[in-house]
Amino acid sequence: MSSINQKDNQFVWHPFTHLSSAENAIHIVKGEGAYFYDVDGNKLLDGISSWWVNLHGHCHPYISQKVNEQLHTLEHTIFSGFTHTPAVTLAERLIWHLPKNQSKIFYSDNGSTAVEVALKMTLQYFHNQGITKKKFIAFENAYHGDTFGSMSVGARNVFNNAFENLLFDVIHIPLPTSDNIDELNDTLEVWFNNHKDIAGFIFEPLVQGAAGMLMYEDKHLDELMSICKKHQVICIADEVMTGFGRTGRFFASEYLTQQPDIICLSKGLTGGYMPLGVTSCAQFIYDAYLSDDKTKTFFHGHSYTANATACSAGLASLDLMEKEETIEQILMISQSNHDFVLKHKSHKALKDCRSKGTILALEINTEEHTHYLNKASESIATYFLKKHIIVRPLGNILYLIPPYCITNQELKDVYAVIEGFLEQL
Ligand SMILES: *Cc1c(COP(=O)(O)O)cnc(C)c1O
Repeated sequence: MSSINQKDNQFVWHPFTHLSSAENAIHIVKGEGAYFYDVDGNKLLDGISSWWVNLHGHCHPYISQKVNEQLHTLEHTIFSGFTHTPAVTLAERLIWHLPKNQSKIFYSDNGSTAVEVALKMTLQYFHNQGITKKKFIAFENAYHGDTFGSMSVGARNVFNNAFENLLFDVIHIPLPTSDNIDELNDTLEVWFNNHKDIAGFIFEPLVQGAAGMLMYEDKHLDELMSICKKHQVICIADEVMTGFGRTGRFFASEYLTQQPDIICLSKGLTGGYMPLGVTSCAQFIYDAYLSDDKTKTFFHGHSYTANATACSAGLASLDLMEKEETIEQILMISQSNHDFVLKHKSHKALKDCRSKGTILALEINTEEHTHYLNKASESIATYFLKKHIIVRPLGNILYLIPPYCITNQELKDVYAVIEGFLEQL
C-alpha cells in the first residue's frame, strides 16, 4: 500500500463510503480533459464528471486561467454590505439564462444549502405576510441533499434512517406517469382545498438523479405545477443535477411551459472548480422581504457566500457553456445516448435503458430488486475500472454523465465497453 493510501486510511473519512468493505481509494494525481491519471500512471475516463460537477473536463486551461487571475485580484470578501464584480456579473448572466420570471440570485455554498435556502425562502415568504404555511410536497425517491431540511424533503431511505424522527413531515407523491397523472391531479386539488398549510412543491425536473436517474415527462410536471400555482403553492425546481445542459437544454425547466418560482443550482455551476450554490427566485418572493420591518429580513448567509474565486469559475464555465462547440457537443452526446437506448432497450440483461440529453442510465437485471445497496454496484464499478472507465453505479443502475469535452470516438469506445459488459452477464 502506498504511503498516501496508508495516511488516507489513517486520517480521512470519505463520503458515502462503507468503511469496512471499501477498497483503498484510487489516488488521482492529475486531471486533464475527460481523463484522470492515477498514481500508477493509469489514464482513467471520468464517465460521471466527478459526481456530476465537471462540465468541461478537468483542468480546463481557460477556467484555470480565469480562476488564477481572480486569485491574484480578489479571492474573497464578506458579502453582507459588500459586493464584487464576479458575483454581480454571474447573477446577471444566470438570470439571462434562467426562465423569464427569475429575477434575484441568492448565493450559498453547495446543492444542499441551495435547497435549504429555497425551503427557508418559501416558508418565510408566507411568514412575512402573516400566513402560516409549513408543509412541503416532494416526490417519492427524491434526493435534495444531506442537510436536515434537504434530507426532510428527500425520500426516507437508507441515507437518512438514523435521523428519521428528526426530519420534518413532508407529503411524498409518486412520480407522474400517463397512468397516474389524472389521479395525482385530483389528489393535489383535494389536498390544496382541504389543507391550506401547504407552502411548496419541490422537485428535480425531469430526472431524479440519486434515485437512479429516474425520468418522467415534462407535460406531467407542467400539470402538477399548474395546480400548485392555482393554489399559491410555491414551485421549487431543484436543478442542482439537471442544470447546465445535462438534460440537453440549458436548464431542464426550459422543457416546461410553467415557470418554477424558485430554482436551485450547484454542481455544474462552476464547472467542477469550486463549491458554489445558487437559489434564484421570482420577484414576488423577493418583494415579500422588502419592508421597513427589520424582522422580515432573510437572516441567512454563509461565511463563504458568493466567494469571488468560485464566482469567477462560474463565469468562466458559463463562457464555455455559451460556445457553439459546447452546444454541439451536448447535442452529439444526447443524440448518441438516444441511439444507444434505441439499440439496447430490449437487451435481456436490462430491466430498462433510458436517456435524457447527456444522461444515460441502464437498469441491470439482478436477482435483488433495484436498490441503492444492490450488490451489483461494486462488481459493475470494478468491471469498468479494469477497462479504465470511472463509473459509480447507483446500486444496479449504471449511468453515464460525461464531461462535454468527451469526443464522439471516446463515447463510442465507452458504449463498446458497456456492450461487452452486457454480453458477459
Ligand atoms: C447533489 C444534489 C444535491 C446536493 O448537492 P450537494 O452539493 O452535494 O450538497 C441536491 N439536489 C440534487 C438534485 C442533487 O443531485
